[in-house]
Amino acid sequence: MLENVRVRYAPSPTGEPHLGNIRTALFNWLFARHHGGSFIVRFEDTDRARYIPEALPNILETLRWLGLDWDEGPDSNDFESAGSYGPYIQSQRLQLYQDTVGTLLNNGYAYPCYCSPDRLKELRISQQKTKSMLGYDGHCRRLTTGEKQKLEKSGAPKVIRFRIPRQGSTLVQDLIRGQVVWENDLLDDFVLIKSDGFPTYHLAVVTDDHLMEISLVMRAEEWLPSTPRHLMIYDALGWRPPSFAHLPMILGSDRSKLSKRHGATSALSYKEQGYLSDAMFNFLALLGWSFDDKTELFSREELISAFSLERVAKAGAVFDQEKLSWMNGVYLRKLSVDEFITNLQPFLERPFKSGGLPDSIPRDLDRERLISIAPLIQERMKLLSQGIDLISLFLEENPAYSTKILLQKGMDVPTTCQVLISTRATLECVEPWNASELERAVRLLLEELDLNTGQLFGSIRAAVTGRVASPPLFETMDVLGREVCVVRLTQAINHLDSRDHLDEGM
Ligand code: GLU
Repeated sequence: MLENVRVRYAPSPTGEPHLGNIRTALFNWLFARHHGGSFIVRFEDTDRARYIPEALPNILETLRWLGLDWDEGPDSNDFESAGSYGPYIQSQRLQLYQDTVGTLLNNGYAYPCYCSPDRLKELRISQQKTKSMLGYDGHCRRLTTGEKQKLEKSGAPKVIRFRIPRQGSTLVQDLIRGQVVWENDLLDDFVLIKSDGFPTYHLAVVTDDHLMEISLVMRAEEWLPSTPRHLMIYDALGWRPPSFAHLPMILGSDRSKLSKRHGATSALSYKEQGYLSDAMFNFLALLGWSFDDKTELFSREELISAFSLERVAKAGAVFDQEKLSWMNGVYLRKLSVDEFITNLQPFLERPFKSGGLPDSIPRDLDRERLISIAPLIQERMKLLSQGIDLISLFLEENPAYSTKILLQKGMDVPTTCQVLISTRATLECVEPWNASELERAVRLLLEELDLNTGQLFGSIRAAVTGRVASPPLFETMDVLGREVCVVRLTQAINHLDSRDHLDEGM
């Protein structure tokens, strides 16, 4: 166990939180909980052009959904709430970045740059033409005090740049990747303060990680090239840097970086589709971390105790949608009937146009009724949203019949009507009304009517459920009850008897 562990999740509120981003939060959270340390949430909102106000509550909602509670960070009700290290939103910390940059200007590690966007554009074009290294050429690095004063007086807009040491190299000691060395002359004098007065990511992240006493920076691999710049800032300020660990990329099935092309990647869209928090938590934990290369199912407690950076992979982790669905099904089946209904009910209660039950089914739903249906459907679902159709079969007034599904192979309208009439007569007398008695009675009909099971069971299933597939037929009929089954059989017979089916182009 390490002491005084302080890790942070530092999202930029630029859109819906992406699954890969949430995996970073989850690994940090597991690390903090494993070592009894603190998990801190900090919003990096200094890129004003990409700032999206709704992203902030969305990110917090995602963290809450997954149970990733934070020890310090902005609160949904009070974004200004702050512990001794706050505030936790960078746009509320601007003075602190000015202080850092003031020190860097004083000790010669930073300088003002007055180059116009036009000059920088021309520079880039000429670098591209001559195939030389892209980046700032250090033009303002050499300005004399007099030249600077003159430019200041003229009111020319400026940025503040970091003065990269030209010689030597910078070593990143990464806890996952080992040693990574950067030659300093491959880096250009990057911007610390932009012309709008906001800090860049590099300045803000170093200032905050230092002031918040972050012990380990664990973030996605894409930030690795920024790390030598950060180390240079730490060095220039005489600050002790934290440890670093860069997490492997998350890849789609084609092994390219996971993106919208691979389907939904926003974490909350998975909640909407009916993935369970525990399943998602388990699944995300295995994206780049493993215990023994074979165990797949872990509770939160098991993950907290087993998690370690030693077992985080360097290679990209493939996002396997099928595995996620399988895992969700496993977690759905593990729920007690009561928990299952508690999770399912919000999906059912939604209006039809938002994916809920047909509006003709009255809300609030009767919980006892749902509990009686649950055992029939819980086994068959991978997603909570799949429960809608399964449940509506039991609750809807009239299944929508089509002749096509009522007629089984080798059967026509008159024979099907006859079969359904005989079935109705049988069901009216079945005593007691339960699945095994129903099965016994219907099987006797098989011989009487000289049909095969596909034909008879198919006809009955279509008539009592309005569907070609359903949970096991006799259990379904048991839960539906005699009255409903008889009414539905009558409706199906009437449908076939009427000339309605002729309109269906049969
Ligand atoms: N704000 C960065 C992001 O959106 C965080 C990078 C870091 O953790 O240093 O991912």
